[in-house]
Formats: sequence, structure tokens, C-alpha cells
Amino acid sequence: MTQADILIKNGIILTIDGSLDIIPCGYVAIAGDRIAAIGEGEPDIHAARVIDAEQCVIMPGLVNTHTHMTMMRGVCEDKLLMDWLEQICFPIDASLTAEDIRAGALMCQAEMLLGGTTTFIDIYRYPGAVAEVAEKTGIRAVIAPQIIDHPAGAGETYATNKTFVDEWQGRCPGRVMPWFGVHAPYSCDWKTYKDCHDAAIAHDVGIHTHLAETESEIKQMCEKFGCSPFEKLDEIGAISGRMLAAHCVHVNDRDMDIMAESGMKVAYNPSSNMKLASGVAPITEMLDRGIVVGLGTDSNLSNNNVDMFEEMRVGAMLQKLATGDARALSAETVIRMATIEGAKCLGLEREIGSLRVGKKADIILVDMGKPHLWPMFTGGMPENIIAHLVYSASAQDVRTTIVDGRVLVDEQQLVNYDLRVLFAYVQKTAADLYNRAKPQTI
Ligand SMILES: [Zn+2]
Repeated sequence: MTQADILIKNGIILTIDGSLDIIPCGYVAIAGDRIAAIGEGEPDIHAARVIDAEQCVIMPGLVNTHTHMTMMRGVCEDKLLMDWLEQICFPIDASLTAEDIRAGALMCQAEMLLGGTTTFIDIYRYPGAVAEVAEKTGIRAVIAPQIIDHPAGAGETYATNKTFVDEWQGRCPGRVMPWFGVHAPYSCDWKTYKDCHDAAIAHDVGIHTHLAETESEIKQMCEKFGCSPFEKLDEIGAISGRMLAAHCVHVNDRDMDIMAESGMKVAYNPSSNMKLASGVAPITEMLDRGIVVGLGTDSNLSNNNVDMFEEMRVGAMLQKLATGDARALSAETVIRMATIEGAKCLGLEREIGSLRVGKKADIILVDMGKPHLWPMFTGGMPENIIAHLVYSASAQDVRTTIVDGRVLVDEQQLVNYDLRVLFAYVQKTAADLYNRAKPQTI
């Protein structure tokens, strides 16, 4: 090829395509929304825009496999999970309007883009508002409404979910994708799981949920139904490779057998699990069984940021601590979880998650020219680039974010948004919501 729209050159390329080999100095060319060429050295390609990636790593955008477009960051801290849900989340959720969600979605998507996340899955309220925001910001989004049967009115319903899927399937194809979403077995009926799973098959989309987050929830399930939620979902025929379940902290061997046999995917949320004292998901055992695991931040209420670099670092360290084995969840494994394995969780691995000619151009540049990311060794030296990205880097190190071939963050600035305007909008909307919802923050 000789012509491209964007040429990124002179950078260290980490493709995450097959092996984790690194090209110490190379280029990536973009034509339209796809990667047109990847190679070593200086290419003979003319492009409308040339980005010099000196001292930068060029890598696939990060994939966040579990989050909620929430807004009330930092006002409801240090509570037990069930108290937190009942005293804070549910009153806020019940008071939400589409406008609140629009503001939360704008703030969350701005934070994600600035931090190198190019794809996320959301499960929350007013999915249409989140989808409209994603359509404008340019980020890649999978959006699952959050159905809650009990208490009524705290979430979406099967009917609103189905309407949302009908409205959005095909509206922004491949970039804003609707799914089905069921909050959790303790807040939803089994029939809702079955209906959504059947509808997901009929519409050829996925289904997102929370499973086995806390010990008390599992105890309650066992007392009520005589089995684990995995056994119950298996019994009613509502678990398959279409399902992506967040957490899966309290699971036994039988549960993991069901997960592996069904092809169900898992979103590992280490920060949220630590902050809410939920426990440690047996991720290394899941990986040994061949279960696909992605990485998620969960919402800014339980994390409190959506920094996927931090999530990689915390996720790897938590597994080492829990297993007593410093070899557990290596940097190489966790960086794949944040990219290609995350793409698999969303059924998008043929389009995103690695740098390969023909795939979508979802690319980030991480600026390594900083003391905490130095020295850098490539080619002939003991390789340390992946270790730097996992154990030393943060969202603040992202210089450029490209989604679908469009530069959305340039020199650490959002291209299409003025953050000061966004802050004022979010501030006012959040204060109004708080005064309406009156959560029990004391
Ligand atoms: Zn969640």
C-alpha cells in the first residue's frame, strides 16, 4: 500500500496478536476505520496525518468488560455491599432520569477515552441515553440495560430491554451494540434469565449479569433453591457462551465445570471485589479450565476510577497474594485479559483486541518517556515493556486514543469535548440527583 489516512510511525509495537512479540521500531497505517498495514522500520506510505510515536508503545485499545455509567462517585463509601445497594444504589437508581444517565455516561466515556479504553460494556439504566452518548463520543460500546425485578422500579424490565435491542440493533453497527442485561439472581426472577437468554439467541446478541459476588448471596441462594446460581441457570437452560458474568467470586468446582462446559465468559473486577470486601475470584483456576476471563473496573461507585492500567496491576497482584504464588497471573496473561480476552468476552475478537491488518483501528499510544516507565528494553535485552504497562503505567500515560480509525484523544486532550463544560454539566446534574434521591449516606 502507498496511501493511508493515518500513519503512526517510529513507535514500539505490541500487537497482542498470537504471540506477545514486540516490534522495537515500527509503524501502523490506518485506512478508513481499519488497520491497513503494520511493519518494521520506516514505510513508504503517504498519509493525510502522520503521528510520530517516538518513545511510545503502540498497542490495541483496552477493553473494559464490566462497568456501569454511574455518576455519584465518592459520596457513598465504606459500606457493606448489601447496605450499600439498599441504602444508596437503589434509592439513587430509582430516582434516575435519562438526563442523569446522559451526564454520567459522558463523564465515564471521557474518562475511559483519556485512559486508553476504546471498548466497554455497560449495564445500567436508560440504555438509550448511554447509546446516544456513545454514538457521539465515538467510543465502542456494548450496552446492556439492567433489569431489576425486585424492588420494582429500580431498574429496567424485560420489555424495555427488548425495545432497546430492537431500536439499536443495526443503528450504529459494530460500534454501539445492544445486549440483554439481568442484574443478579437475588434481584431478578429465574424466568427473567430464561426469557433474556432465549431473546439473546433470537437476536444474536449477548447477555450480561452479575453472579456469585458475595458469600451471603450464595448462602441465601442455596437456602432458597438448594443449589448455586450456576446450577440453577444450567437447569433452566439459561447459561451459554452468550453470557458474560461479572465477579464469579464464590464458585466451587461444580460451578466452574458448568462455566467451562457452557462457554460462559467472566469479567474479573479486582478493585471492586477488594473495596466491597467481596472476596477473591479464583481466576487462575478458571484459566486452567479454559474459561475466558476479561478485566473490568465495575462502576466508579465501587472502584472509584475506570483506569484499566490500575486494574491490570491490582488484578495481577491480588491473584499472587490470594494464591501465595508470585507466578500467578503474569503480566503477559493480564495484558491479554485487558485486550484480546476482553474482546472475546464481548464476541468481538475478530474485530478488536489486537493489532492485525484488516481489524478495526482501535489503537492507543502510551507515552513511555517518563521516569516511572524507564529504562525500556527491547530487542536483545531482557524485555520489560509489558511489565511496565502492567505494573508501572496508569491511565495518565495515554497520549493518543483512536477508535474506528478516528483520533478521539490527541496529546492527552479530548478532541471533541471541552472538559470544563463537561464538568459544569456533571456537577449540576449530580447535585440535583442527590437532592432528589436522598440516599442514606450516614
Ligand atoms: Zn457491577
